[in-house]
Amino acid sequence: MTRLLQDPEEAAALLRAGELVAFATETVYGLGGDARNDRAVAAIFEAKGRPHFNPLICHFPDAGAAFAEVRGDSRAQALAAAFWPGPLTLVLPRRVDSRVALLAGAGLDTLAVRVPAHPVALEFVRAAGTSVAAPSANRSGRVSPTTSAHVLDELGGRIAAVLEGGECTVGLESTVLDLSAGGAALLRPGGIPAEAIEAVIGPVGRPLKPDAGPSPTLRSPGLLLSHYAPGLPVRLEAQEAGPDEALLAFGPALQGAGLSFQLSESGDLREAAARLFAGLRFLDAEGSRRGLLRIAAMPVPGDGLAEAIRDRLARAAAPR
Ligand code: AMP
Ligand code: MG
Repeated sequence: MTRLLQDPEEAAALLRAGELVAFATETVYGLGGDARNDRAVAAIFEAKGRPHFNPLICHFPDAGAAFAEVRGDSRAQALAAAFWPGPLTLVLPRRVDSRVALLAGAGLDTLAVRVPAHPVALEFVRAAGTSVAAPSANRSGRVSPTTSAHVLDELGGRIAAVLEGGECTVGLESTVLDLSAGGAALLRPGGIPAEAIEAVIGPVGRPLKPDAGPSPTLRSPGLLLSHYAPGLPVRLEAQEAGPDEALLAFGPALQGAGLSFQLSESGDLREAAARLFAGLRFLDAEGSRRGLLRIAAMPVPGDGLAEAIRDRLARAAAPR
């Protein structure tokens, strides 16, 4: 049963215990999980029924807490001062000592951060005392919810609780601005207009028109098939493994690999999703160091999270 809560402290205690809690922000209701808990992050993707992993926005009570996880340059600081709390999400380089789970950033070296303006959301993330990862609180492919009743329709029975916060006032998602690569690029238009951002930091690159095809410079995840692929080539659906291969194992591991990383011995998909990006990074770095030729990924059968894991592996294996 999904509970409807009125008390942010109670909701925060559930979140700290690894449960999922939907909460109102000024944009739309978010599906919150402890961003430092990789299993809670895996559970977010599972609850949404998303067939792929995309990076989640991490929510913080203030700019100081956000910039403890990412490196905010002077432009980021100026935008934070102008628009936080508010519907602006900044994509910035992750700090090396960030405690946010790799899965929350879909394995990227960047992290999307924001300080929500809704008073209940602020109380909730402050009481949580951790980074709160939250995509919109709807099932994959459905519209974003702006009332607790919408959330219960979408996710009732799949999450621990919904924190009541009334109707969302902006009703439009946050503007996503990428500052991670030196320039400034709008990844998603939203609650804060591009012109308002430009008044603070100068010119901002706009997304191409949808019919212009994928831009080589637009770093929006999922657009490019080979997005954030490891350096070593990846062989899918491995039924055997050789000494020149780094094995990504799922279930009882194949013998004979030069190196191996176990996603989940027992075949637990939530555990496998939680370990996926760490596993790919480890096999890529350590396999390259040892002169191995490729990563061999064992099959990950099933639906739900298995589908998202296979999608990620297919991207890693796509020719570049
Ligand atoms: P939602 O899950 O509906 O809140 O949407 C989050 C948006 O932020 C999506 O468009 C993501 O692609 C984008 N986003 C989150 N993190 C990153 C990142 N590290 N780099 C680029 N875009 C991001
Ligand atoms: Mg969404």
